[in-house]
Amino acid sequence: MRATPRSARGSSRRPVRALCGCRAPRATTPTIRCGIFCAQCGIPGVRPSPLRCAGWSLNSNPVAEKRFSLNPRDLLPPRAILEFFAHHGRDLPWRHPAIGAWPILVSEVMLQQTPVARVLPVFEHWLRTWPTPGHLAADAPGDAVRAWGRLGYPRRALRLHACATAIITDHGGVVPEEVDVLLTLPGVGDYTARAVAAFAYGAAAPVVDTNVRRVINRAIRGNNDAGPATAADRSLMQTLLPDQQAATFSAAVMELGALICTRAAPECGRCPLRESCRWLAAGQPSSEVRNKKQAWNGTDRQVRGRILALLRDAPEPLSEAEVRLAWPDAEQWQRCVNSLLADKLIARADGQALMLPS
Ligand code: SF4
Repeated sequence: MRATPRSARGSSRRPVRALCGCRAPRATTPTIRCGIFCAQCGIPGVRPSPLRCAGWSLNSNPVAEKRFSLNPRDLLPPRAILEFFAHHGRDLPWRHPAIGAWPILVSEVMLQQTPVARVLPVFEHWLRTWPTPGHLAADAPGDAVRAWGRLGYPRRALRLHACATAIITDHGGVVPEEVDVLLTLPGVGDYTARAVAAFAYGAAAPVVDTNVRRVINRAIRGNNDAGPATAADRSLMQTLLPDQQAATFSAAVMELGALICTRAAPECGRCPLRESCRWLAAGQPSSEVRNKKQAWNGTDRQVRGRILALLRDAPEPLSEAEVRLAWPDAEQWQRCVNSLLADKLIARADGQALMLPS
């Protein structure tokens, strides 16, 4: 029996056909749900089985794409996204007009893998302490690690310090504007470079984080796959950017993913894309790529965090015996101390004492 998209059940409307425009006869072969549109019948969520999928995905089947005349911008219309952002976007300090490129760079580094609520107090303290790259570069890397607190992934603090130093040394204290130049800064990768170019300087650069990726995967590709952003994601996002307000559009898609199209509980009823979203129309098929849950208890990450917390709170270097109290397993403790030393997140003081890097 043919699988029926959830959105079409019990409804007199025919949103599926209206959505893709396909008028071809339905496939006669048995079908299974797959979450993309079938090239034969235009129905999302079905494909001939067990044959290779006859559906199409964006940019992968130009014939089908032409046949359906489906413009990605119809699935992620800038006007609806920008309206949503104007009404529901959060008032976050790094979004304030004219806040400057340095705070935006700091916020983007902090927000990688850390939720907004945890970033906010650290961000505000950081900017009060180091309002410019010059202020941070003049202090010790250990001060940056201390101020990083419990944000996690503390190597980001060291990278920000190295970044501030490079901005002073090589760019006259001004955060660069071009993506290519931003990419030369220590610890600045594809995402951060484009985010700074877009949000600080208004560049029409595609900014794709996990929230944006989730929205475009669901709304346009009709799947729920997780994973880091790819070049294909950036390329697709580039085609979606409106001529006006490109950077605001990127921030708006990001916000939609953070507030409405969340990973675990999307609120499709409140979403401005609910009429056109392909994943919703396909009955919200589960992901083909399983999300990996990151363990914490007992991991080296936890041990490293405890060691760093001890040293962060200590006004003076601590002896190994004092730091040893951070974790009962001696072998794991030693391994973590060694890795923190190798990462330059901690340093040896005189003798065997340990401290944050000076
Ligand atoms: S309709 Fe639902 S799944 Fe689709 S983009 Fe909106 S919140 Fe996400």
